[in-house]
Amino acid sequence: MNAEIIAVGSELLLGQINNTNARYLSAQLAGIGVNVYYHTVVGDNPDRVKKALEIADKRSELIIFTGGLGPTKDDLTKETIAKHLGVELAMDEDAMSSIEAYFSRNNRVMTDNNKKQALVLKGSQVLKNDNGMAPGMLYSKDSHHYMLLPGPPFEMEPMFAAYGIPAIMAKMEQQAKIVSRVLRFFGIGEAALETRLEDLIESQSNPTIAPLASESEVTIRLTAMHESEAAAISLIDEMEAKIMERVGHHLYGYDDTSLMLELSKLLKAKGMAVAAAESLTGGMFQQEMTSLPGASGLFKGGVVCYTNEAKINMLQVKKETIDEYGAVSEQCARELAENAARLLGADIGISFTGVAGPDELEGHPAGTVFIGIHMNGKPARVEKLLLSGSRGINRTRAVKYGCHLLIN
Ligand code: ATP
Ligand code: MG
Repeated sequence: MNAEIIAVGSELLLGQINNTNARYLSAQLAGIGVNVYYHTVVGDNPDRVKKALEIADKRSELIIFTGGLGPTKDDLTKETIAKHLGVELAMDEDAMSSIEAYFSRNNRVMTDNNKKQALVLKGSQVLKNDNGMAPGMLYSKDSHHYMLLPGPPFEMEPMFAAYGIPAIMAKMEQQAKIVSRVLRFFGIGEAALETRLEDLIESQSNPTIAPLASESEVTIRLTAMHESEAAAISLIDEMEAKIMERVGHHLYGYDDTSLMLELSKLLKAKGMAVAAAESLTGGMFQQEMTSLPGASGLFKGGVVCYTNEAKINMLQVKKETIDEYGAVSEQCARELAENAARLLGADIGISFTGVAGPDELEGHPAGTVFIGIHMNGKPARVEKLLLSGSRGINRTRAVKYGCHLLIN
């Protein structure tokens, strides 16, 4: 299915606001395998909205409007579309009662123009507005689908996520089976991944390839469409094989998972348990680990050893080590990991020490991280990272790196 987004609002053309609605919708649509080929912006003017609609009709199957569903005079998207399609507007009872409820809740008197917000295209599927008054709608005619969404992002985004996407997917299902698979990568940036897959991304059609970066991970959603589900799956398998050839060593999991969840599966399979010594991360690793059900078999415990005294007194790091090398050092990370495992009777010890930032520490720049991993009774291996995020991001990343090191 190919789509076009028409944002209605003169304030967009006047440069007063950014068209974040189009950006949001495009990203969401890419995620479900809908190709967005055009973004249009048009002012609050019925003639020009009508013209934009006529052009869109010739080239797009799914046409999504945002803005102009409100109660005021300049809100005319619905009326213009109704006229163009030759459809009447009808009162939607549910929308009307939620508007009435809104006014009585706020002790306000409802003016007549507010009733206008409860009018929907007759025969359309109404999309509930959980954060405002004007409902959205989806109207289908002659293999075209028209979706109308409100302008304010805080109304539009939750509406689209909760009701818009399922409605579009249902339309797509009528045409073909849709199969999606999410590949999750760690240790490679979004830009690097896209460069390695550039030709595949550029020539994508079925399956679609949608990369997305979040919190130092990158995911790729592959979405294939076919009349037969088995054929859609094999289209995805083929694309995945091509992607794996290039960046397969960065893949850590599929669909709904996380590095910590993958780590816990591995620990369970091997019957091993972890102990942690956390300075930099202040317990974040332990917090994540213990939030998984069944953690008790996999996690012995740990220490938040933020000060040098805590490292020395609670984890028996040698005072000489800290005097000679500092707390932010390979030597300290090694002792922390080894001692945590020994003192807590764990198969694996992991330690985090470093400089979260924003200031430097012991002559190390912010973002310097040492992660110690001790297992199988061998001397701990220590990885040094130089991260470049904010304090919070550096700490979150360090935990993810730690999990990734334990998985590999
Ligand atoms: P309302 O009931 O608030 O009038 P509406 O559906 O009629 O909603 P508009 O009047 O077009 O929507 O826009 C309301 C506000 O929503 C705008 O002032 C702007 O802040 C925001 N908005 C509208 N369109 C966009 C857009 N494309 N991207 C981001 N924000 C938008
Ligand atoms: Mg408005």
